Amino acid sequence: MPRVFSGIQPSGELHIGNWLGAVRNWVALQHRFDSLYCVVDLHAITFPYDATLLSSRSRDMALGLIAAGIDPERAIVFVQSHVPEHAELQWLLTSVTPLGELERMTQFKDKSQRLDSVPAGLLQYPVLQAADILLYRADLVPVGEDQAQHLELTREIARRWNQRYSPDAPYLPEPEAQHTTARRILGLDGQAKMSKSLNNTISLTESPEEIWNKLRPAMTDPARVKRTDPGEPTKCLVVFDLHRHFSPPETIAEVEVKCRSAGWGCLDCKRVLADNMIATLAPIRERTLALRSDPARGDDILADGATRARAIARETVREVKDRMGFLPGRSD
Ligand code: SF4
Repeated sequence: MPRVFSGIQPSGELHIGNWLGAVRNWVALQHRFDSLYCVVDLHAITFPYDATLLSSRSRDMALGLIAAGIDPERAIVFVQSHVPEHAELQWLLTSVTPLGELERMTQFKDKSQRLDSVPAGLLQYPVLQAADILLYRADLVPVGEDQAQHLELTREIARRWNQRYSPDAPYLPEPEAQHTTARRILGLDGQAKMSKSLNNTISLTESPEEIWNKLRPAMTDPARVKRTDPGEPTKCLVVFDLHRHFSPPETIAEVEVKCRSAGWGCLDCKRVLADNMIATLAPIRERTLALRSDPARGDDILADGATRARAIARETVREVKDRMGFLPGRSD
């Protein structure tokens, strides 16, 4: 069965942007592919971060994936730093990674401009990402448009490594992109992509009251100033878009009519959205609370995931080191 790998930053709880943009797709993929989903905590330290929060955010994110529908019996769910071979393979791959390619990465250029002192890890980020994928010899990687450049570099690193160390029978497969159909989910402020750091999200575990309190001030069609002004749903980039994800077709049709005719106000429209969102997210919220109330179960799931991931990872690193000419150790 072809293998899928994907990772997610330990930003704490999953929010609806993560869910609609990536994780819902992962849940579907686990039924068709051998799947590995990883909380990439080693990536999180490449940019200034709060060390006192890293472990709880990693745990919350991993448990959030399971609550959102990733079945740990079917897919492997684990935390990156629990599998030390990620860092080991990253170092091995630096031998075939051109410095110029790393310096040209759009994300590196963007993030490094915001820092007075640029950590070397930020430059190395895409090599670690290549190691994440190649460690499991994944065939497919679900990517959004912002990760396409990194995946292309992964393919180039695999190609260069194969040419140099495994020319007759390429050992590292060049992974293909699995382009998701989900579009970028805008934050509630309508200004930028939904992101926890911008405080414009709704988390999957928000209570019904919290969902309503966050949705109420969300951006709407800017031309609809007064209740009697007709609106245009396609210009309501936050609320109408969320209706398309959370409301049934008949409600979406009703929104279009009542918005354009000023048949209801934006608060009425948002209330209907909030109710649909609350109903959709309720099972995820319940599963999250159940997992949090039993920390030992969460630890067991992550330990099992790391053990299963590590079995694959050790084999890959052993093969890679063998082809690169290292002296095998007793533990290899
Ligand atoms: S009525 Fe609904 S779709 Fe129309 S502008 Fe207001 S919130 Fe947006």
